[in-house]
Amino acid sequence: MSLKYCQGPICHHYTTKDRLRGTKPNKTFQTRRRSGFYYGQSNFCSLNCQNDWFGEFGDLAIDHFGRTTEPKHLTEQDAWVKDYDWRNTTDDDHRYYFVNKITKEQRPLTEEQYRDNNYTLNER
Ligand SMILES: [Zn+2]
Repeated sequence: MSLKYCQGPICHHYTTKDRLRGTKPNKTFQTRRRSGFYYGQSNFCSLNCQNDWFGEFGDLAIDHFGRTTEPKHLTEQDAWVKDYDWRNTTDDDHRYYFVNKITKEQRPLTEEQYRDNNYTLNER
């Protein structure tokens, strides 16, 4: 199992006990190293470190990968979402349905279709 370092640019400035490493007189606060982290696709030890990274590099990253400069549109053709009627109904055929978030049209679904993550009415 390989260890990796938190990518937070100032992780070592958070002076917690677990970051204090080494022996006297060479103790330093160090970047956290773990086999995995819970934040930012396992790149950051904390939300603070993830936010620090974005604060320092976010604009550069967005410019590099493509900044959104005009609104994106979710059209009627792709506005279908699955929903579920939580009320206790005896009519199982009508518990699951598609609803179009723009037109509000509803179409019934079987439970199998509801649970099938590949089943969709959206065109893309
Ligand atoms: Zn960190």
